[in-house]
Amino acid sequence: MKLEELDGRAAEIIARYEYPKAAMLPLLWLVQENQGWISPEAETWVGKTLGVARSHVREVVTFYNMYHTAPVGRRELRVCTSLPCLLRGSGEVMRRIRDELGIEPGETTADGAVTLTEVECLCACEMSPMGQLDEAFTGPLDDGAMDTLLRTAREAPETSTPLPEPEPYISTDGPILSTRFKNVEGTWFDEYVADGGYRAAEKALKTMTPEEVIQEVTNANLRGLGGAGFPTGRKWSFVPKNSEKPVFLVANADEGEPGTFKDRYLMERDPHALIEGMIISAFAIGSHKGYVYIRGEYFRSAKRLQRAIDEAHAKGWLGKDVQGTGFDLDIVIHRGAGAYICGEETALLTSIEGGKGFPKLKPPFPAISGLFRCPTIVNNVESLCCVPFILRNGAERFAAIGTETQGGTRLFCVSGHVVRPGVYEASVSVTLRSLIEDAAGGVRNGKKLKAVIPGGISAKVLTADQIDVAMDFNALMEAGSMAGSGGVIVMDETTCMVEALDSASRFFADESCGQCSPCREGTGWIHRILKRVGAGNGRLEELDDLLAIAGDMEGKTICVFADAAAWPVQSYITKFRDEFEDFIRSGRAIGKREADACPA
Ligand code: SF4
Repeated sequence: MKLEELDGRAAEIIARYEYPKAAMLPLLWLVQENQGWISPEAETWVGKTLGVARSHVREVVTFYNMYHTAPVGRRELRVCTSLPCLLRGSGEVMRRIRDELGIEPGETTADGAVTLTEVECLCACEMSPMGQLDEAFTGPLDDGAMDTLLRTAREAPETSTPLPEPEPYISTDGPILSTRFKNVEGTWFDEYVADGGYRAAEKALKTMTPEEVIQEVTNANLRGLGGAGFPTGRKWSFVPKNSEKPVFLVANADEGEPGTFKDRYLMERDPHALIEGMIISAFAIGSHKGYVYIRGEYFRSAKRLQRAIDEAHAKGWLGKDVQGTGFDLDIVIHRGAGAYICGEETALLTSIEGGKGFPKLKPPFPAISGLFRCPTIVNNVESLCCVPFILRNGAERFAAIGTETQGGTRLFCVSGHVVRPGVYEASVSVTLRSLIEDAAGGVRNGKKLKAVIPGGISAKVLTADQIDVAMDFNALMEAGSMAGSGGVIVMDETTCMVEALDSASRFFADESCGQCSPCREGTGWIHRILKRVGAGNGRLEELDDLLAIAGDMEGKTICVFADAAAWPVQSYITKFRDEFEDFIRSGRAIGKREADACPA
């Protein structure tokens, strides 16, 4: 399709936003979906359509890794080699794909059929080792699944058979968040309402004041489940009352922390729960416009959520005068394009505004000056999905399910060397041991546990004797780690900690936005040293160099990404120093092609 033919569609997209420039990412998606890549002419068209310089369009295009700046194959095969997939054999998967397609990552087969891309975590670790063919996730990639994948990848997209759906272990009986996860194809309006849906929103809008809603959520001890753990009700209370500027609510669905894959299930299997949570939250903070910032790789989540938004509009739960209450609310889905840093709330807002996902210094905090410099609350999907339960069942009941400092349950994502990787809903008082041994079936193949990351790849690693700890924010902080995003990555006794840290360091070096020298240079430096160590050319004194670099990154940058990049280095080397020293003395190398080059 020619660019001019996209003018009408572009105008529709721009109309959803407060300023044309904010339509930058969706317009780039529009171009790519119609032309396969974003050509220099397309950059000019986007710039002209939005009234910005082509140079600005160019810098945005090159910031996000899902946009193609050159033609690609008919299909794109994206293979995850991040830590959770690495632990379950992504190295071998990537080797076979390269050998059979005869190309390296970043290349396209000679017949133009397939482009191969190596990616960091796609947040589908329950099916690891996994990949994504065009929009579809697929895994675990055992030999049979690989045969199917490679055959399908070579077929024309229009005629190929859909890849088989995996059947991961998913809670379906949790008291709050996973009750409707049994609906694999999604829970739609009628079923949601029949199950008590939208009663909490009705209660809030028709019988409560915004202040009462905020107080109820505060009393419930709900904490931000995206990773920071900040009390949700308190955050809402920071929005200025009677603001002359519009107030925005943003659902952070940019799930990107390796080891985390819960928000995808909420959006795909229970999307109305998120919409109801957003209605109540928007009412509490005085917002009439909500955005859902959803990671670019979550094609299906975005489609299902859009279907639910359309249903909610049709049934009078969104739009003007919601259910005759005089309250207005619109929700717009804004898709990211492959940048982990956009999970940081100020980066996410900059991305919605049409820029590169650069975090900003705080203060001012978004509650005072956020999206388009207006008061903005950014809440994680899971946090918002807890809100209807709180309003329907009362703060006391929610608080009683958790611990003294954190109410409720949460969705724990367990991946790595366990029998049953999956999403498990449990009270935040559950111990790490119980999650690994009872929920996920323990360490697989009868091996011993060696280490666990309890809250996504940024969290400090715990050793096998530290797992009798509750999974709430405070308990894990006292244990020297953090609850983070609830991503539990389990490593058994065969794990090479040098390889695990090398993988984590590559992730942080890839994903630093590059604004701050300590982060940009530090993550790159750490990764280069670890690569050298991993190649068998390390020196013992470099372990102290790594600790010194990590120390110089902590607390010295615009956002906490640099701290998050430092913590794995500090905890792995401190807790497994003997193993690192043995590895260096032996001259061994991490095996990218030699499966046994990195023995335990
Ligand atoms: Fe960017 Fe890193 Fe600075 Fe955060 S700490 S703003 S990711 S360079």
